[in-house]
This record gives sequence, structure tokens and C-alpha cells, in this order.
Amino acid sequence: MSVDRTLARCSFCGQRPPEVRRMVAGPGAAYICDVCLELCQEILQDPTSFSSKALELASRPPVVIAAPQALAQSQATLANREPLRTVTLELEQKQQEQTLMLHQLQLYEKHFELHYLWIRPPFTEGFAFVPRILFLLTDNNGNRWAGDRGGMLFERSELSSDPRQAIYQGYARFSPPLPANTHHLTLRATDPLSSFADEPLQPWQFEFEF
Ligand SMILES: [Zn+2]
Repeated sequence: MSVDRTLARCSFCGQRPPEVRRMVAGPGAAYICDVCLELCQEILQDPTSFSSKALELASRPPVVIAAPQALAQSQATLANREPLRTVTLELEQKQQEQTLMLHQLQLYEKHFELHYLWIRPPFTEGFAFVPRILFLLTDNNGNRWAGDRGGMLFERSELSSDPRQAIYQGYARFSPPLPANTHHLTLRATDPLSSFADEPLQPWQFEFEF
């Protein structure tokens, strides 16, 4: 069976070949980019066993990559990335220092995705937890979804000129897909780490029709 390298992503940071200088292919669908290799070199040279760099690397969310597959199948996978329908939401709520902006709901055949921006004080360097927003969705028929682990979060530092604010762009995946008769959704969202703050955030709550 041939391995389709066009779906290559660094297994450590999720970057694709055009975004990196060099990509080293490992067995199956494992890859590592030049930046992550350099980071590993630095970790090897650091005598402390749990240095902040090693912790940061170990705490990254898993990179979800397509398993090696035949080319025809992988082209079908790429075609599936086009949503069947996109619902524009453009809703935002601010709580204390944090703003959650819901951008789009993208409906696919077997799942749906919520795309959002999370504006908040920046995470400190060497942050040892996986930052994440947890979502709970309920529709007008009482169906419930919790976001699964397929989502991603990216830092978009170029969008913010204020050093006290960072902008993170993310999406959460939900399955099974929304039933055809869903027309109202209640969405609750929470930053689980904020529950450790001195003034814990209340969950965000959004209601929308579509
Ligand atoms: Zn990498």
C-alpha cells in the first residue's frame, strides 16, 4: 500500500510541509519538522529532566493525522473537508478578561464543527496544560453533544497588537451530525482552567436559531 505524503503533518506541532523548512518522514504517518527537531536538541542538552520546554512539548494536544492510505481514499478525505453547509454565527460575549466569539458552524456528513476565536490574556511560556474550551450543545429536540478531541487551537498573535491580549483561533468537532430538524441550539462553553482562578468564570451561554 502506498503512503500518501501530501497529507504529511509534523506529529509534534501539526505544521504541513509548505509551513516548514524541512520535514523528516518517519514510519507510517509519523513526521517531524526542523523546528521540532531543534526543540528536541535543546531538551536533550538541558540537564533538568522536566524542563519547561520538555513539559510544553509533552502537553501539546495530539496532532490528528490521517493514517497512511491509498491515494484514491485520501483524495476522498480531502473532498470531505468541504462543509455541506456553513452557518455564520458572529456572536460574542465578554466575561472579565475573556471574550468568546463564535464564528461559524460547519456541517459535514458525519460531524459538525464550531469555529471560534478566544481572546484572553496570553498563556505564559512553558504553560504545562493543554488550553482548551469545553463545549456542551443542546438542540430543540433535547439532543446533546460534547466536543470531542479532534478540535485544534492556534495562536494568532498577528491579529492582536495588545500584549495583554492574545487571540486564539480554534474549532471543536461534534458527532453525530445535527439532525435535519434541528433549528435551535443552546451552547454552553467553559475554560476549565479558569475554575482555578481567584474569580472563576461562569460558563458562557449562547442561544441561536438557524
Ligand atoms: Zn513540528
